[in-house]
Amino acid sequence: MRATTKLTASRLNKLFLAGELSAVEIAEGYLERIAAVDPKVQAYITTTADAALDRARKLDARRKVGDTELGPLAAVPVAIKDNMCTQGIRTTAASRILDNFVPPYDATVVHRLHGAGAIILGKTNLDEFAMGSSTENSGLLQTRNPWDLERVPGGSSGGSAAAVAADLAGISLGSDTGGSIRQPAAFCGVVGLKPTYGAVSRYGLIAFASSLDQIGPIAKDVTDAAALLSIIAGNDRRDATSAPEANKLVNFKLGPDTSLDGLRVGMPKEFFLSQGMDPGVRTAVEQAIAHLASLGATVGECSLPSTEYALDAYYVIAPAEASSNLARFDGVRYGYRTSEYDSLMDMYLKTRQEGFGPEVKRRIMIGTYALSSGYYDAYYKKAMQVRTLVVQDFQNAFNQFDVIVAPTTPTTAFRAGEKVDDPLSMYLADTYTIPVNLAGLPGISIPCGLADGLPVGLQIIGRPFEEATVLRTAYAFEKTTDHHLARPSLS
Ligand code: GLN
Repeated sequence: MRATTKLTASRLNKLFLAGELSAVEIAEGYLERIAAVDPKVQAYITTTADAALDRARKLDARRKVGDTELGPLAAVPVAIKDNMCTQGIRTTAASRILDNFVPPYDATVVHRLHGAGAIILGKTNLDEFAMGSSTENSGLLQTRNPWDLERVPGGSSGGSAAAVAADLAGISLGSDTGGSIRQPAAFCGVVGLKPTYGAVSRYGLIAFASSLDQIGPIAKDVTDAAALLSIIAGNDRRDATSAPEANKLVNFKLGPDTSLDGLRVGMPKEFFLSQGMDPGVRTAVEQAIAHLASLGATVGECSLPSTEYALDAYYVIAPAEASSNLARFDGVRYGYRTSEYDSLMDMYLKTRQEGFGPEVKRRIMIGTYALSSGYYDAYYKKAMQVRTLVVQDFQNAFNQFDVIVAPTTPTTAFRAGEKVDDPLSMYLADTYTIPVNLAGLPGISIPCGLADGLPVGLQIIGRPFEEATVLRTAYAFEKTTDHHLARPSLS
């Protein structure tokens, strides 16, 4: 059997359209690899082998009769983070409170994937309700980093990133509220893009913090990430926060140009001064930035003074919104319900006590506290003021620069168990990604080298709806280096 699982999504699609690979052959290759390797990596909560093969057979039949509208992702095997609704397929958010939930509808992104001809392989693991940075908060299973099974894949989209890195999916979808696409992509040595807030519909995404959540692609290279973005982006009347500007990303195509002449690249000095950055991460990122300069970009220093407070503001705003969003999980209409109770209130309390894990409870309590009367002004309002300052800092920086570059994470993948008992040190994993969510900007993480054998991510941040500039910069870097070709040795 050919090693089709190593190919990029774009390549698989080309080979399928050219008749060199059948969709069934592609799907079977992945399903076999999942059966052999996923017991070690544990990226998937649910696999949908029968539906995938059924769909592959239909694609093959359509191609045989010369159908020319098979879609830009025809025969590409995709994995979906398990906080996006899939009709008839269990969707858990990695929480016991939803472990029997089968949605009656597809999220808009899932609907668009079907329309583009993709083959859905299954649903991937995450930190419960996407709260975490290591996927260890999953209430269902522990995903491992394919580069080192003793280490975490990052989170919360750890299953989606590990699946792509371990060749268990051609491409995948994650969601990013404070770093959950970019940070696991960095830890697993793959590409992860968080689009501009409002670029991708969140209809059918199980909400964590609605003013921050975005869905985006995780891929083996920048070309694949751009291809998936162009399918999922676009205005959607089912999501009131989806923006009309999103339509300019629909059918977006990357150009072949690898020159960065005239591009102004800003390095935020506060990020590079920070204490917590591993020396290996620093070296790889500084070399990457020097490489951007060698492609014609001019690199200068910029300042984002409020980012020092961004993490604190995020850990008020995100839990505040979560405490409200998660109020709907009460055992009444869907999901888990406790078996013994003697009143309605008792049912609510026991259901939530038994159904939610510790991190989710911590967030609900912090959020409820921050929103309670008397504390609202002191915490929530202050945090919102910081958020405004973070937005302004980026606006000022973008007056002088076209993109801002930084490490994605301060460290490489840490060991499983290392931070589980210390939530504060876990929260620090998102120091460089959270400001981007607070400002609603697009940000990508691309592989830029290894430190002690583990992948390092370079983050490239752009102006709202300027994904094209972010992707062009990332593409130029990738095409002129070979960091994205480094693969975990997992056999
Ligand atoms: N790690 C961050 C948190 O725990 C971000 C999570 C996310 O982006 N979903 O909230």
